[in-house]
Amino acid sequence: MKSNSLICTKTQTEYPLETPIWQSEQGDLLDIRFKPSFDKKNIRNRPANLWRYREALPIISDENIVSFGEGATPLQKILIEGQEVHLKLDFLMPTGSYKDRGSALMISKAKELGIQKVVQDSSGNAGSSVAAYCAKANIACEIYVPAYVSETKLLQIKSYGAKVVLVEGTREQTAQKAYEAAKHTYYASHVWNPFFFQGTKTIAFEIAEQLAWSVPDTIVVPVGNGSLLIGLYIGFRELHKAGITDKSPKIIAVQAKNVSPLYQAFTEGLTYIPAIQAQETIAEGVAIGFPLRGKQILQYVELTGGAFLSVEEQEIKSAWQMIAQKGYFVEPTSAVALAGLRQYLQNNDAGEKIALILTGTGLKASTKIASLL
Ligand SMILES: *Cc1c(COP(=O)(O)O)cnc(C)c1O
Repeated sequence: MKSNSLICTKTQTEYPLETPIWQSEQGDLLDIRFKPSFDKKNIRNRPANLWRYREALPIISDENIVSFGEGATPLQKILIEGQEVHLKLDFLMPTGSYKDRGSALMISKAKELGIQKVVQDSSGNAGSSVAAYCAKANIACEIYVPAYVSETKLLQIKSYGAKVVLVEGTREQTAQKAYEAAKHTYYASHVWNPFFFQGTKTIAFEIAEQLAWSVPDTIVVPVGNGSLLIGLYIGFRELHKAGITDKSPKIIAVQAKNVSPLYQAFTEGLTYIPAIQAQETIAEGVAIGFPLRGKQILQYVELTGGAFLSVEEQEIKSAWQMIAQKGYFVEPTSAVALAGLRQYLQNNDAGEKIALILTGTGLKASTKIASLL
């Protein structure tokens, strides 16, 4: 067993961490084996961005770091239904969503590997994030986007100089097109590429540091493909294993009821992800009918003693209104987690230390938001 490697989730075959691949030879998903280290004093003395956890991030040379100074978003206490909640304001990231954490690591790694062109598929935020980091890194970038996405998100992707390929049909059909194109290039995918989670895990590091190196009891997140959830799980586990914190929080994963394959698998006790009949949802960012890392997500949530919840469109809308009227302008997708939290509080005793991630800005979702006012 090597200490640093890419590892096939199916056969456990290992590849050196610096291999320019994004799937195993047989076409399966890869994870990363990497031993992070944490030095609280070093961390404290560095600038407030996610690179302060440098020894926990698998980039070899500082020269390859592609960064806008992202990270260190505020963690703010507010009252929701009388319960104190720590809000993590990741909608304030450089391109407007937490996806920048993943892109910062993934595109830095692509640069380190000498990659000159990447493809990605996205319903908006992952695409604009990857496009921005590719612009900064001077890497050519092609983004496959379903034809239905918000106009502003498309404009943002194009503005960074990325080539946009519009795909008629579902989110899954878009992913399939990108997957085929990626066979000849490098797939900067927030689902396939395991370096993405090495970036999203920094949200766990930040929350713990902001709570004086302790962790919440419970953390509530929206989930579609799980790129945030997987990162949170990895990050909190790394801190715990390194002896920096004394436990990992329970993860409460929230889906829009209209597209809720993970919720269904969880409540029905399935070990596979069922084929579902997806219906339209205002939460476009989590409208994922078949999450490729579904089994992994189910396993991670169960390992934390957590659960999946699903929320109706009306609950999402009402949660969006509630948080907007407290001064936080987020996109409807982000309100999925808050709607889930409100459900959770109805069924659980108060007194837990709870954190909630606000994932994306409202500024690029004006059309969807107009329908809510
Ligand atoms: C991508 C995204 C999510 C969900 O992330 P998954 O990786 O699909 O679980 C949630 N909120 C916003 C704003 C996003 O951009």
